[in-house]
Amino acid sequence: MRIAFLGLGHMGLPMARNLAAAGHDVVGYDVFAGARDAAAAAGLRVAGSGPDAVRSASAEIVITMFQSGAQVHGAYRGIDGADGLLEAAAPGTLFVDCSTIAVDEARAAHELAVAAGHRALDAPVSGGVVGAENATLAFMVGGTDEDFELARPILEAMGRRVVHCGAAGLGQAAKVCNNMILAVSQIAVAEAFVLGERLGLSHQALFDVASNASGQCWALTTNCPVPGPVPTSPANRDFQPGFAGALMNKDLGLAEQAVASTGVEARMGMLARDIYRRYAEGDGAGRDFSGIIETIRDAG
Ligand code: NAD
Repeated sequence: MRIAFLGLGHMGLPMARNLAAAGHDVVGYDVFAGARDAAAAAGLRVAGSGPDAVRSASAEIVITMFQSGAQVHGAYRGIDGADGLLEAAAPGTLFVDCSTIAVDEARAAHELAVAAGHRALDAPVSGGVVGAENATLAFMVGGTDEDFELARPILEAMGRRVVHCGAAGLGQAAKVCNNMILAVSQIAVAEAFVLGERLGLSHQALFDVASNASGQCWALTTNCPVPGPVPTSPANRDFQPGFAGALMNKDLGLAEQAVASTGVEARMGMLARDIYRRYAEGDGAGRDFSGIIETIRDAG
């Protein structure tokens, strides 16, 4: 298919490369010159602006991979009188936003696209930069059945698991709910290991029991916050991410917005939100989020 890919950062560039490698006709663009140069050096066709990428690709699909909802809305509409992606695209183009943004922002992006005569999906990802490079991302998708089926082969070229979560915005809803579970469970596992240490329990003994009992979860069996039991976990490499504290903090900010707008009583989730905000404001922004165990150990 003919694809314009906007946002060639840590995630976007390897995703765009995988689409090109799968035989799609991809034209990319990033506002940051360094990202454009890296994309050109990787063999990608690069345009001089977002709308140019859409036009020169004669794009059937426009994929965005930005940091925020404001960036998505700005690029769709155009900023300071410049034309936007929506105006540059032929009628009926499918807009697929893979950025992690708020549920309400995703719904507003859908409305902008549809009002301009286009189609739209929200398709945030999990799996990080390694997943983007190896085409093993998980996509959580919101939008109509028809649009989902059109995008499915494109998403499958960049990922291993593609789940249609429901209507517009529900891809982002799934992402925010999953990451709230993850934050709470990573803190719970870290607290249990610190408690075990104080009680004289070895890390391996606690792991051997909990990983085969009802405490079993991803935060324990894949992202174990102490070195040893899971040799590939970030704790074995001084908490190099992995999934950085800054990204967990961002995602919990989106969870907080969703909790506020729905009125749900999410006391554990919002406590995790506070704990990770402080972690990211300290030295945790660039460290794996499982490094929260050090904060807990130091505080006791
Ligand atoms: P990044 O900052 O490396 O990349 C975003 C890119 O978008 C930047 O290069 C920026 O210059 C570009 N950009 C912004 N506005 C633009 C515009 N109007 N036109 C063209 N380019 C524009 O961020 P990233 O790490 O690649 O993350 C992208 C998204 O994926 C974020 O929403 C993030 O939360 C989400 N995400 C990231 C990870 C991860 O591990 N990095 C994992 C899951 C989800």
